[in-house]
Amino acid sequence: MSDVSRRNFLAGGTAFLSLAAEVELLGGPIPAGMAEAGKADLIAPDIYFHEGRVADNADAVCNNGWIVFEDYVLVIDANFPAGAKLIIGKIRSLTDKPIRFAFDTHHHGDHAYGNQVYVENGAVPVAYTGVIEEMKRYETGYYDDKPGRWEAAAKERADLRTTKLKPPSVLFSKDLFFDDGKHRVELMHLGVAHTHGDAVAWLPKERILFTGDVCVNGPYNFAGDGDVGKWVATLDAVKKLGPKIVCTGHGPRSVATVLDDQQAFFRALREQVGALMAERTPEEAKGRIESIRATLKGNEQIARYVSERGAGEDSFASQVGKVYEELTGKKLAALMNERQFARHAHARSHGLAAA
Ligand SMILES: [Zn+2]
Repeated sequence: MSDVSRRNFLAGGTAFLSLAAEVELLGGPIPAGMAEAGKADLIAPDIYFHEGRVADNADAVCNNGWIVFEDYVLVIDANFPAGAKLIIGKIRSLTDKPIRFAFDTHHHGDHAYGNQVYVENGAVPVAYTGVIEEMKRYETGYYDDKPGRWEAAAKERADLRTTKLKPPSVLFSKDLFFDDGKHRVELMHLGVAHTHGDAVAWLPKERILFTGDVCVNGPYNFAGDGDVGKWVATLDAVKKLGPKIVCTGHGPRSVATVLDDQQAFFRALREQVGALMAERTPEEAKGRIESIRATLKGNEQIARYVSERGAGEDSFASQVGKVYEELTGKKLAALMNERQFARHAHARSHGLAAA
């Protein structure tokens, strides 16, 4: 296989490749630290990636990264509290430099609810200002006295009952740079995507990108808090960075083409919903979901993004419903059981909550 086709193949299929298969395809020795989910993966000197396990509450749920600077460690995403403890332990086994910063790529529980654990370990949660705006919208238990998402998630996650929501307290309105001369990390908000408050971490020297859930690698997309139309445009801005390695918010790490794949999935979803549903009433439109699912499943580039889940927030039906609403202003009402929606708001946990 040529280098290019190898790369394309890997980018399209890493979700289903074992480490051994991937290494064999790459045709080289196993790079030091390269590992499967649940293992710290050294991707460049001082730069680590850790793939979470979406189906295991006790493990790290979202993907994490960390960069060991000369004087401190910057962690990408706080994870849930259980995940935060796990990641802190892994970092501690590699370096005794202080963990100073935990960057929340967005406000969701699997990326930000571990903030308090980081604070107790001497770090400060950092985020784009939009994360606070999103928390004010959804974390009504913290900002008001009305139970919000944290309280809903605490019913399903024991690790939330011994800690508390800690909103980020170091905020940036556009970007924020960490640079000690050796390493440089640029935190940047590039537009509305998975939420209204997403930011990515860009390492220009190594051309490594940590996307948070602006990009995932597998059936993990949740569109409910974002805007799918704007998401497609934001991915254009992300692609302009020109990364070589892309560490997504969920799923195996990949290369630049994962951004194309994620974007192609949403483009196809918008086209299909536009063509088959937009002129129909919510009741009629619902009957088209399975045919849209089959069409997208038949497209090799994006098939891995099509969730098999019948209900729940990252189900295919809820993604279709979000796009239908964006295009028509109407809800696919029967899909959205609001009580269930609220209950799974965080424990959706990308596959954890029962449908
Ligand atoms: Zn998320």
